[in-house]
Amino acid sequence: MKQTLEQLKEELQYEKTNACVQCGYCLPVCPTYMTMGKETHSPRGRINLIKMVGEGKITDLSVLEEPMNMCLGCRACETACPTGVQYGSLLEAARAAIVKRKTFSVPVRLLRNAMFKKVFPSRQAMTLTGNAVWLYEKSGVRKAAHKSGMTNKLPYHLGAFEAVMPQAVSPKERKKTPDRIKAKGEKKYTVAFFTGCIMDAMFQRINRLSIELLAEAGCDVVVIQKQTCCGALHAHSGEMEEAKRLAKQNIAAFEEENVDFVVNNAGGCGAMLYEYGHLLASDQEWAARASAFSEKSKDISEVLISCGGLPNLRSKRKERVTYQRSCHMTNVQKVTKQPVELLKSISGVQLIEMERADMCCGSAGIYNIVNYDASMEILDEKMKDTKATGASVVVTTNPGCLLQMKLGIERENLSQSVRALHLIEYLAETAGIS
Ligand code: SF4
Ligand code: SF4
Repeated sequence: MKQTLEQLKEELQYEKTNACVQCGYCLPVCPTYMTMGKETHSPRGRINLIKMVGEGKITDLSVLEEPMNMCLGCRACETACPTGVQYGSLLEAARAAIVKRKTFSVPVRLLRNAMFKKVFPSRQAMTLTGNAVWLYEKSGVRKAAHKSGMTNKLPYHLGAFEAVMPQAVSPKERKKTPDRIKAKGEKKYTVAFFTGCIMDAMFQRINRLSIELLAEAGCDVVVIQKQTCCGALHAHSGEMEEAKRLAKQNIAAFEEENVDFVVNNAGGCGAMLYEYGHLLASDQEWAARASAFSEKSKDISEVLISCGGLPNLRSKRKERVTYQRSCHMTNVQKVTKQPVELLKSISGVQLIEMERADMCCGSAGIYNIVNYDASMEILDEKMKDTKATGASVVVTTNPGCLLQMKLGIERENLSQSVRALHLIEYLAETAGIS
């Protein structure tokens, strides 16, 4: 029994809970505490639960399950914490310990295995997914499904997300994405572009635009074919071993090219890549390689600013814009100024910061699918702040946030007057790149 408890303590990274002094400074920044009002759904409460399990005061690990599942993983609590509690590590460790001991039903186990081990890590499978979405649209099935009301009957409120799904690119267009593209004008950097799994399947147009903007700004861009999913969805779902395997595959793939930066355009993926060093810190063979990779990993806004901004933001705008930050980009990568600088460099853009700009929109990976009601409560709060800015454009830097803000706009019946766009789409539109 003693050995089992010691093992569990280690698995839960119990030592890290000791940094929490119970001050509660993190409570007002925690969206789940603010909307649910329960101590067990606050950072402090969750840390206490982990502590009690580690000390053997709670023996049934399932007690942890709901509070941990209801956490967005936004890590806003880390930024408010005066003692530097590593909440993100504690959350991932707790989720991994829960998953390890949980008996999933056969269909759920099969689905998890298929998605985490076969679909997300496979570029072919993600391409097929993107092509299937394109066919669904082009064949008229989507239109018919809407007309018949079938989409409203989809489980997990998937119909709501289906309604704001981005337009897919055709298989022919998809094939045109170059593996290499030369800098326009004077070359400033050589960069490798990180495509991501969902970004590549569902938001391939934004990836294409990202590559073109990097070239416009002065980068030689290479797209490495052996890259895979960043592993963020795995790490957030307790599948740590698979997350580590994917991290190693990416590190090895990107080491094959001598580049200045590995560039991504998705806050969630970027945070994961940024943390490979931390993820593999105790792996002797990979620790140094992982931290070298993380140092090179940059959000596209950082690289565009390092290049001196974009030369061709020529189309004059006259509109109010607000920026919905990606939690992972803000709280993990600490990239906050560069997207704002890029937006401010566009003439005629009136950038209005929303109240509680750092608060999560409730998207959080697949949180909005598995915890729909809680997510919508958080989104409704976010939409109050968004509407108060009077902006006609909401800019985001992460695909999940983008869909969530589109959904918020639909829920508020604002689709005639407000658009949600990825920063890259907005910059490309302004620069006349379609
Ligand atoms: S990660 Fe976000 S939701 Fe989770 S405890 Fe911290 S602030 Fe709250
Ligand atoms: S702010 Fe930090 S130390 Fe204070 S309760 Fe929250 S996690 Fe604990």
